[in-house]
Amino acid sequence: METEKTKCLIIGSGPAGYTAAVYASRANLNPVLYQGMQPGGLLTMTTEIENFPGYPNGVSGFDMMEDLKKQAERFGTDIRTGVVTGCNLSKRPYKLIIDESEEIETETLIIATGASAKMLGISDEQKYAGKGVSVCATCDGFFYRKKDVAIVGGGDSACEEALYLAGLTNKVYMIVRKDCLRASQIMQDRVMNHPKIEILFNTNTIGLFGKEMLEGADLVSNSGKDNEKRFDIAIDGFFLAIGHNPNSKVFTHYLPVDDYGFIKTIDRTTRTHIPGVYAAGDVADPDYRQAITAAAAGCIAAIEAERYLNTLDFD
Ligand code: NDP
Repeated sequence: METEKTKCLIIGSGPAGYTAAVYASRANLNPVLYQGMQPGGLLTMTTEIENFPGYPNGVSGFDMMEDLKKQAERFGTDIRTGVVTGCNLSKRPYKLIIDESEEIETETLIIATGASAKMLGISDEQKYAGKGVSVCATCDGFFYRKKDVAIVGGGDSACEEALYLAGLTNKVYMIVRKDCLRASQIMQDRVMNHPKIEILFNTNTIGLFGKEMLEGADLVSNSGKDNEKRFDIAIDGFFLAIGHNPNSKVFTHYLPVDDYGFIKTIDRTTRTHIPGVYAAGDVADPDYRQAITAAAAGCIAAIEAERYLNTLDFD
């Protein structure tokens, strides 16, 4: 296996990764950035970003990521496609294995691998994957035009996706396990007032059914209470929007993570306990998880990497 060497390696192509790339490139660190299986990250799956400063009319997640990519390329970032399948962070230079076949050594590493959609954990999710079950309304909503669908979750993602689906489909059930939504008030108001969206509070999904393709969901409301009720809904699409798991697994042998897998950073900086290794964006952020906070973390990580490199003696 031939080993390539670099000063700054960035893993991930969401707002954290690209912002780190812009800063690192402009600081002449000649960064290499690997985008994984979902180039542009989770934001490419969102419809409209309305809360990123500087876009009074909003911007699509896809467009924003394309612009960030172009900006990183403009300053010379070497953007490649590949998944980190292994690493050795025991000493510098740190070794990363890409796609189980290439090795790259780096003096600094910025981990910006983001997070992946959570599933409920019921076996039917796998059974109907690609046959009605989806984790991305923006990607798959089109297939359910004029049909009935359900979306699980009560956060901003679920509300945003419910609204998107309501614009395409006949009816949207929102399956919410508590008696309230967790989403921001503006999003709550929008879904509550939408004529095509019916919110099923205190409701959980027990199973899914259908011959070949999904035809419906078995639900239970007020589970374990006197007024517990089991019922079915007829749906063609079942969307999940119940949060995300950080993509930290490949690094956990070397880097401590919290109970949910978020990489722990020192004093809420992007520094990990390994000098020259930084974690930025959703992979290290259990609290805020916004495009703007991820971008800020990417910027901080790149500045930290530059300062760290300045302390090293190179032959
Ligand atoms: P959240 O963690 O905010 O919400 C997850 C939702 O899924 C909650 O309603 C939660 O229920 C529910 N849930 C979790 N696990 C299960 C389960 N096993 N069964 C049923 N329901 C479950 O995730 P989001 O992805 O919505 O948002 C993440 C972050 O991104 C937030 O900070 C959000 O504000 C932000 N965001 C902002 C957007 C915007 O501003 N445009 C758009 C999308 C996201 P419970 O409440 O009971 O825990």
